[in-house]
Amino acid sequence: ASASEEKDIVIIGGGVAGYVAAIKAGQEGMKVTCIEKRGTLGGTCLNVGCIPSKSLLNNSHLYHQILHDSKHRGIEVGEVKLNLATFMKAKDSAVTSLTKGVEYLLKKNGVEYLKGEGSFASENDIKVSLNDGGETTVRGKNIIIATGSEATPFPGLEIDEKRVITSTSAIALEKIPETMVVIGGGIIGLEMASVWSRLGTKVTVVEFLDQIGGPGMDTEIAKATQKILKKQGMDFKLKTKVVSGDKSGDKVKLEVDAAQGGKSETMSADVVLVAIGRRPYTKGLGLENIGMELDERGRVIIDSEYRTKVPHIRCIGDVTFGPMLAHKAEEEAVAVVEHIKKGFGHVNYGCIPSVMYTYPEVAWVGQNEQDLKSKKIPYRTGSFPFSANSRAKTNLDTEGLVKMLADPETDRLLGVHIIGPNAGEMIAEGTLALEYGASTEDIARTCHAHPTLAEAFKEAAMATNAKAIHI
Ligand code: FAD
Ligand code: NAD
Repeated sequence: ASASEEKDIVIIGGGVAGYVAAIKAGQEGMKVTCIEKRGTLGGTCLNVGCIPSKSLLNNSHLYHQILHDSKHRGIEVGEVKLNLATFMKAKDSAVTSLTKGVEYLLKKNGVEYLKGEGSFASENDIKVSLNDGGETTVRGKNIIIATGSEATPFPGLEIDEKRVITSTSAIALEKIPETMVVIGGGIIGLEMASVWSRLGTKVTVVEFLDQIGGPGMDTEIAKATQKILKKQGMDFKLKTKVVSGDKSGDKVKLEVDAAQGGKSETMSADVVLVAIGRRPYTKGLGLENIGMELDERGRVIIDSEYRTKVPHIRCIGDVTFGPMLAHKAEEEAVAVVEHIKKGFGHVNYGCIPSVMYTYPEVAWVGQNEQDLKSKKIPYRTGSFPFSANSRAKTNLDTEGLVKMLADPETDRLLGVHIIGPNAGEMIAEGTLALEYGASTEDIARTCHAHPTLAEAFKEAAMATNAKAIHI
C-alpha cells in the first residue's frame, strides 16, 4: 500500500472491542479499517456469546415459568410444548439483526470493513487474507489488536462440539439432552446449565472451588445462588476437579477427584459442557513477525495507555488483561481511541459491573466481602431481602437480597452485591453510585419510586448506614 492510503487506525478484530473502536474513531473523523474474519461483525458477544445466550435464557425462563410458576397465579394453561427449532430461530434472528446493525453503523461512520484474516507483515502493514479469496495489505499509523478469546479446552478430553461441547454448541443444540455435566461452575457454566435444565435436561455442575460463580462473586451471594439453583433442579459437586474424560462409549465418562476434600468418582452424561474459562486468541495474527511476546496466560502485554511494546500498536478487550466482559471491552475501545486522538482516556477498572443472567439474576460491582477481609480493609455491611419489598411481593418473586459494603469511617460505598429479580438492571444504580463516590447515606436519602424493586436497593443502603424502614 502506498503512504497515501495509510489509515489513521487499522483494527484487527470486529468484536465489541474492535467495532466500538472503529465507530468511535470514525466519529472522531479518523480514517479507519476494521478487519474481521468471522464473516459477521460483533465477535463472540453478538454471534456466540452474550446475545444468543440471553435469548435462550429469556425464553427458557418464560417456558419454565409457564410450566411451573403460573398455576398459583391463577393462570391455567393447556398443553405446553417446546419447539426447539423455533426457539433457536428466535435467538438467530436477534443475532442477525444486531450483527447487521453493527455493519450499518460502521458504514455510517465511514469505516472500511474488510472481511478476512489480518496478520502483521510489519509493524505498520497488515496482510489480509480475504474471505472471498485473494489478499490485500492495509497500512496503519496506529494498529489496534482486538482479536478476543476462545474457550479453554479441557486437557485429555477432545472437544467435538457434539457430545463434548463449548458454549458455542451449548447455544445451538438440536436436541434436548437427557443428562449433561458442566465442567466449571463459573458464569458460562451456570447460564448454560440454567437453559438446559429449564428445558428438561438433568444437569450436574462440577466445580473445582468451594463456591460457584467464578471469580468475583461474593461468597454469601454465591451460597444463596447455589441454594436457589438447586431448588430449580440443578445438582452441584463443589471442591471437585474433573481429571480426565472418555467418550468411547455411549455416554461421556468423567473421572472426578477430590480437589479440596471432595469425593473421587466416575460420572457420565450424554453431553459434557466444558466451561473452565476462556483464553486470549492470537492465532494467525503473525505476532512473531514483529517480535511481540505474550504473558504466561497468552495475553498481549500492554501499559496503562493500551500500548504494546511497539508504541503505535495497542491492544484491548479479551485478548489482554482484565475481566473478559463485553462492556469492559467497549469502555477500552472508547478510551484507546481517545488516547490516540487526544492523548488521554480513562477506564475505571474498580467500577465494572458483572451480571450473571440466571434466574434470579446475580449482579455485583466493586469489592466483595471476602476480598475486603483478605486485604484487611475495614467495612460495614447492610442488606435487604426482596421478601420485604412490596413490588417483589406483588410479583410473587421474593427470592434474593441486596447487600452493600461501605467504609465504616467515611460511609463511602465499596461494593454492591445483588441476587434477585432484575439484579442486572439494578446494578447500574450501584455502578453509578460507586463511580461518583457516593456514600450509602447519599443512596438512602435519594427518593426511589414506589412500588419498585429498586426500593430494596435504597433500603439496603439505609441498613448499611443506619436502619432500614421495612424490616
Ligand atoms: P471477541 O468478541 O472475541 O471478538 C474478537 C473478534 O476478532 C472475533 O470475531 C474474531 O473472529 C476476530 N479475529 C480474531 N483474530 C482475527 C484476525 N487475525 N483477523 C481478523 N479477525 C480476527 N460478556 C458480557 O459482558 N456479558 C455477557 O452476558 C456475556 N455473555 C457471554 C456468553 C458466552 C457464551 C460467552 C462465550 C461470552 C460471554 N461474554 C459476555 C463475554 C464477551 O463475549 C466477551 O468479553 C467479548 O466478546 C469480548 O470482546 P472482544 O472484542 O475483545 O473479543
Ligand atoms: P470462569 O473463569 O468464570 O469460570 C470457570 C470455572 O471453572 C471456575 O470457577 C473454575 O474454578 C472452574 N474450573 C476450572 N477447571 C476446572 C476443573 N478441571 N474441574 C472443575 N472446575 C474447574 O469462566 P467461564 O464461565 O468459562 O467464562 C469465561 C469468561 O466469559 C468469563 O470471563 C466470564 O466473565 C465471561 N462471560 C460472562 C458472562 C456474563 O457477563 N454474563 C457470561 C458468560 C461468559
